[in-house]
Amino acid sequence: MKLPFTINLTSKVAVITGGGGVLGSAFAKAIAQCGAKVAIVDLNRTSAEEVAAQICREGGVAIAVEANVLVKDSLTTALVKIHKELGPCDILLNGAGGNHPAGTTTKEYLYLEDVEKQENIQTFFDLEREGVEFVFNLNFLGTLLPTQVFTRDMVARKQGIVINISSMNAYTPLTKIPAYSGAKAAVSNFTQWLAVHMSKVGIRVNAIAPEFFLTEQTKGLLQREDGTLTERAQKVISQTPMGRFGEPQELIGTLLWLLSEPASGFVNGAVIPVDGGFSAYSGV
Ligand code: NAD
Repeated sequence: MKLPFTINLTSKVAVITGGGGVLGSAFAKAIAQCGAKVAIVDLNRTSAEEVAAQICREGGVAIAVEANVLVKDSLTTALVKIHKELGPCDILLNGAGGNHPAGTTTKEYLYLEDVEKQENIQTFFDLEREGVEFVFNLNFLGTLLPTQVFTRDMVARKQGIVINISSMNAYTPLTKIPAYSGAKAAVSNFTQWLAVHMSKVGIRVNAIAPEFFLTEQTKGLLQREDGTLTERAQKVISQTPMGRFGEPQELIGTLLWLLSEPASGFVNGAVIPVDGGFSAYSGV
């Protein structure tokens, strides 16, 4: 990957949850290219192994660690493996997250005719507790629990950096996805809370809030099978002043800036939008 600039992360250990995913793997590769040893922590062992192998082939140091960000014991086991193979954690990037159809309404608005149950439509009233819980837990608890496990190393050494992944949904919720929007708002809020809480022990905490990036997670939402843009994707583009989706590598400059002490050492509790102007635009 061609980096916009490099920073020196030699001898640092970075833990990237969701590191087997589209954005997580781009983050992991960039961090490895800057010299850090990287632990790719993911529920999907195969994708974690693929990303780790790719990094190693390109001369970096990476290991794959299968773990569930929602299960504390699984994270603790991951920590033991990371300690043994790489050392204590200096950087934590909470990249595991995502949405699920069970937390999503079919339509943008509630119409009177839809209140009477119709087949194939999921209204607000049909959302099941389990679906909402799944999305909320994955994004919010899936950020909080790894932070509890991996920042202990940082506290012990009075230094460390946590990067969370929020979304532009956190500023203004997108239609149809109340669980995901609420969960990402919680991630932004938690970023601020944690930055304050950890400020006396040398740990900086910030978040990146990406707009839509074409990834496995968003493909179904943004593209039809023939590759043309869905109606929703066209709507997103029309609300994005820059008139396009982002590319994963366009998040890297913000990431490296936030990981560089000389560049961003006084930036703490910030949520940085990388969204082509989406969150700044009222639509008029
Ligand atoms: P992705 O689906 O490609 O990657 C997510 C990764 O998390 C996957 O590898 C998955 O296996 C892993 N994962 C899921 N549940 C897990 C669990 N319980 N424990 C451990 N790992 C688990 O998604 P992505 O597009 O790369 O998104 C990464 C992050 O960025 C997410 O938090 C997402 O909400 C956020 N985000 C993405 C976009 C976008 O446009 N893609 C925009 C804004 C925010």
